[in-house]
Order: sequence, then C-alpha cells, then structure tokens
Amino acid sequence: MLTQPNILSLLQKYFGYSSFRAQQEDIIQHILEQKDGLIIMPTGGGKSICFQIPALAFTGMTVVVSPLIALMKDQVDGLKANGISAGFFNSSQAAETQNSILKGITEQKLKLLYVAPESLDTLKPYLKDKVALFAIDEAHCISSWGHDFRPAYIRLGALKEEFPDTPIAAFTATADQATQQDILEQLKIKHAKKFISSFDRKNLYLEVRPGIKRIQQIFSFLRDKKDQSGIIYCLSRKSTEMLTEKLKQKGYKVMAYHAGLEAQKRSEVQEAFLGDSIDIVVATIAFGMGIDKSNVRWVIHYNLPKNIESYYQEIGRSGRDGLPANTLLFYSYADVVQLRKFIDNSSNQDVQIAKLNRMQQFAEALSCRRIALLNYFGEHISEGCGNCDNCNTPPQFFDGTILTQKVCSAIYRLKENENLSVLMDVLRGSAKAEIYDKGYNKIKTYGAARDVPWLDLQQFIIQMVNQGIINIYFHENNRLVLTPLAHEILFKAKKVKLAKLDTKPKEEPKQIFEDSEVTGLFEKLRALRTEIAKQENVPPYIIFSDAALKDMEVKLPKDSKEFLDVNGVGDTKNKKYGRQFLAVIKTFLAEKTKKPSTKKATELKTLDLLKDGLSIDEIAEHRALSSTTIYGHLIKLHQSGQNINLYTFVTKDEVATIAKATESLAIENKAMKPIFEHFDEKIPYWKIRMALYLKETE
Ligand code: ADP
Ligand code: MG
Ligand code: ZN
Repeated sequence: MLTQPNILSLLQKYFGYSSFRAQQEDIIQHILEQKDGLIIMPTGGGKSICFQIPALAFTGMTVVVSPLIALMKDQVDGLKANGISAGFFNSSQAAETQNSILKGITEQKLKLLYVAPESLDTLKPYLKDKVALFAIDEAHCISSWGHDFRPAYIRLGALKEEFPDTPIAAFTATADQATQQDILEQLKIKHAKKFISSFDRKNLYLEVRPGIKRIQQIFSFLRDKKDQSGIIYCLSRKSTEMLTEKLKQKGYKVMAYHAGLEAQKRSEVQEAFLGDSIDIVVATIAFGMGIDKSNVRWVIHYNLPKNIESYYQEIGRSGRDGLPANTLLFYSYADVVQLRKFIDNSSNQDVQIAKLNRMQQFAEALSCRRIALLNYFGEHISEGCGNCDNCNTPPQFFDGTILTQKVCSAIYRLKENENLSVLMDVLRGSAKAEIYDKGYNKIKTYGAARDVPWLDLQQFIIQMVNQGIINIYFHENNRLVLTPLAHEILFKAKKVKLAKLDTKPKEEPKQIFEDSEVTGLFEKLRALRTEIAKQENVPPYIIFSDAALKDMEVKLPKDSKEFLDVNGVGDTKNKKYGRQFLAVIKTFLAEKTKKPSTKKATELKTLDLLKDGLSIDEIAEHRALSSTTIYGHLIKLHQSGQNINLYTFVTKDEVATIAKATESLAIENKAMKPIFEHFDEKIPYWKIRMALYLKETE
C-alpha cells in the first residue's frame, strides 16, 4: 500500500487546477483504496482526472483502455505536456514504436499506458505484476445495450480473472440503467461501487426555435461568434453539404462530415477541427464521439434528434472547458414525420417511438428546458435554471378556447380522416383543387382561422397535440383524431390556454467574449498558442485550453509565481511556456497604459464607418453585426442628436403607410410582428421600426 498522497497537490502540480469538481475527490479516494468502481459522469464532467491522479499516486502503471485509436495520441500528448510520462499502444503503430513502448513497460518508465482493446492480448505477457489499475474509458462500448457497442471490448471480461488483485475502474457518460448493469456484469465487477454524477451541465445555454428560415437564423446566430468553434448536426448528408457550401460562401472556415466520406477525409476533417484550422463542422450524427476538443463554443441541431440521449450527448460536446456555450435546436413538425418514417422501418419500434415522443415534448416545453432534460435522466430540480430560453423569456398564455374549438370542430367534420396539412388548408380557407374536389370548401369551419398566419396556426395545433387534445395517428397516414379532452372542449366549454408565439426575438444569452473583444488580449494569447502548437505539431488545446487563456486575461499575472495561479498551469507548463505568455501580457499592459481607453459606444463606431462612406451592408459586414442592428444604431444616433437623415432609408410614403397599418391593426406596445405580417413579410423589421420611430418624433 501507498502512503496517503496529497492528491490536491498532484492536481495543482500536474494539471494546474486549484480544486476538484464535485465527486472527483471521492472517486479518486475510492480508487486509491484499490477498489473497483463504475463512474458515470456526463461528457466534459472531468472523468480523466479521476484515473490520472491515482495513476500518478500509484507506484505501478495504469492501463487505460480506450476505443478510439485516433484520439490516443492527443490524450498522451496532453499528459506529456503536463510533464507526465505516458504512452500508447495500438495496431496502427510501426513495429519499432511498439518495441520502444514495450521497453518502457519493462523498465517501468510509464505512469499511464493507453491501449486499444484489440491490442490488449498482445500486451498481456508484459503486464504481469506491473499494473496498478485498469481504467476502462467509454465503458458502455462493452454493452450491446449501449449505443456504441465494440465487440473487442468483450475481451475485457477476462481481466478480472487474469489480474484478480488489480482494481478496475470503468468510466462512461451513459445514463441508462440497463447498460450500467451490463457493464458491471461483463467486467465481472458486480459489487463495484457506482458513482453517479449530476447530468446538469450548467454552462450550456439551452434554446429551441421553430425550424423556419433556418439558414437565415443560423447566419444571425453566428454573427457574434467569429472564430469560435462549433458543430452543426443534420439528419442527411445532403443537408450537411448544402449548409457547408452556404457557410463557405459567407466566408466561414467550415467542412462537412458524414459517413459517405472516405476514412482519410474524415480524419482530415477531425484534425482540422481539433487544430482550429477550421471553426465549423457540419456533420451527421456520426461525428463527435470522443471529440475531446474543450473549446467547442456552440452546437446547432439543424434537425430534431431522434431521442434525448443523442441530443444530450451532442450538445455535451460544447463547453467542456466549463465556459459558457450556446446550444440551439431547430424544431419542425416535418422532422417528426421524417423520424417516424425511419422508425417504421426498424426494430423495437415501441421504445423508439416513446423516445421520440419525449424528445418532442422537450422541444415543445413551455417551461424550463433544464428541468425537462434532467427529469428524463431521473434528476429533479425544482427551480428554473435561468440559463435556457424559457427561463430567459417565459412564454405568455392567452385564452385559446375558441381557436381550439374551431380546430377540433374542423377535425370532426373532416371525419378524423385527414392530416395536419389538409386541416390547415381547410381552416385557412385554401383554394387548392384538392380541397374543392373533396367538397371541403363547403364544411362549416372552412376558413374559420383565416386570420391566423399559417406558421402560427401550425404551432398552435401542435400545442393542442401536446396538451392531449388531438392525437396524431402516425401509422395511419398521420390522420388527426380527437381525444376525450377535445369532446369536453367542444361540448362542455372546457377552457384551453395556449402559449403566445414570439413577437420579439428571444433574448440571447450574454456574450462570453465581449470583454476580450474590447481588450484584445485573449486574441493575442490565442495567436501565441497557435504558433507554439504549430511548432510542436499538436492541437492548440494541448498547450492551453481557452479557459486557461481566459483566466490569464482576468488574472494578468506578472511573474512566474503568479502565472502558476492561472487555471490549467501546472509546474511543467509554467516552466515551458510561462516566459512567452508573460511577455505577451506585459507588452499588452504597457501599450494599454500608454493610450487611454479606446472603448467607444457601439453606435459611435458605426457612425465613424458611416462617415468613412461605407454602406449599411458594408458596415454590418465589417463589424460582424446584422444590418438590422446597424439600422438600430442609426436610430440611436438620431435620437442622441446626430445629424443623420433617416429618410434616406425609408420614404415619407412608407412611413405613412406603416403608420396607417399600425392604427388599423390597433396595435399596442409597438409590436412589430403583426405589421410585418400585414405587409406579407415584405417590409423588413428594421424599416418598420424606423418608420414607427419617425412617426413618433414627427
Ligand atoms: P470527460 O472525459 O468526462 O468527458 P474530461 O476528463 O475530458 O471530461 O474533462 C473535461 C475538461 O474539464 C478538461 O478540459 C479537463 O482538463 C477539465 N477539468 C477536469 N477536472 C477539472 C478540475 N477539477 N478543475 C478544472 N478543470 C477540470
Ligand atoms: Mg473522456
Ligand atoms: Zn431554464
């Protein structure tokens, strides 16, 4: 046995972190007592430290079984950069390299050895009496219940018999019970203690938006995310390619990733992403397992994922460094229909349908998303999280009884035989031949919801489905059927509340890099990191994570001792890189004291560019803001007395027309959406706003 090591000082010395995250300490203590364990922690939760610290404390070597050959090198490089002696062994290596690793094992020079499960048999003769701990990473790969079954993992079942005195610690981010049980049985560590961490990733902002004009929405989402890494997930190869093309045209550094690409191309994409030489990957779900890139700042789901597990895992690839990250899911009814079709052609349909339903419920939730998400994983929080769209901008409700009655009555008159799109045509009074052919133009509710815009009506009907008023029979051409609740609404005057649809864009979460953009130090540190990474031929995050750079910006260390206080700076990195990074900080501070703060109100920057003769679109481009924002600046400048002629952008006639519409629609509180729709979405929002402003100041 070993003497009680000071594990906190190991954490500081090698990893540069000042404290453990929840559970890490307990898990490490348990492993140090040489007991088996199953550790369940979400992606980005910090599993690696839980076996790396014991590895440093034990006298022998820790063998880490990991499924992804492609990522072993990075993990080992990361350890080496922290001054830890580590190596990896797999079938892709040349015999020479393998021999030198074997030598390292024999001479007991390695603290950690990463191996692919396939290579374990080759290694076994060398491991006798040398292994202090087996760490099984991504342990769910051993279970055919799990989502990433790897047959080679089955061989790990022999470890406990062959090395009865060596503890086994299994790690996974899979929450489901059946898989957990299977892992314990297969590894023959039935009595291992389970450590289950919270699945709450507080730094991820959760947002869902209707899947309309998605490409436009993506462009505006990305506008303030210059140089940030992100992933867009799509259902089809075709959409990955289409989106990649569109983003490229806009000047983004982006690549597509899908199963149709050759293996070499795929690893090229992965490396470009890891090395920050591209910022965006547009991928089908095949991308990402084991992407240990810590600075992914956002994830977009272009399509609805098929279940909450996938969704959770995919958004979990952002914000591993603990800094805020944005996730955005587009939700459309068409996706649900598409996913239902996939399910129809597959096995265990019931389970999959139930899971899709839960996914749909999440997307349609009208209260805190995090509560809904964690509920799914069996965790219960009672307070809203304050970091999701619904907490930020809670939906408002109105009495939707009459609209619901109209909808239900139409379904009734269509004899519960038609799908959503026919129902909508009837309610909106469509002149389509199909409607007339069937005589639907004669039924009583024809045109009864003519005044509700098409997309709004669709969303309201979906809310009714969710409230259990209407059923969709997916297996019978998606026909709509009334439930007993619908009968109460139709015949017993039961009231219905519906959520108002957005009239204003949802508030974006606070920007993470706002300060950095102002000071510019982060960019300078980042540039240095890129340079060093190139020299050493490793991905930039191996040198320092974004979180570490961010912390340098906050702490502004002046000497080596202060540099050691930075999160992510341990002894080795302090010695190796301290001087260079301190120099950049010093130069920066010197320059800053020379000239007074150049921080300027954002609209004044716009004014400067306007005076330089740039057009509105050019200013938007230049400032990486939307033109709508720039028009907003013009109004502000005008308000503050700047001599700007707003009538260059909107004519007097337009102002009058818009003002008239506002009156006739009897709009209160300056809501612009009804006006926008009144003009068939032909007058852009900025113009409406400008016209309303001019009218008011007239
Ligand atoms: P997982 O394997 O669970 O997905 P990782 O082990 O890759 O997660 O850890 C995710 C990130 O969190 C890494 O950048 C890691 O360095 C960081 N991290 C882990 N533990 C701590 C800690 N105690 N303090 C600060 N950062 C930590
Ligand atoms: Mg991991
Ligand atoms: Zn919330």
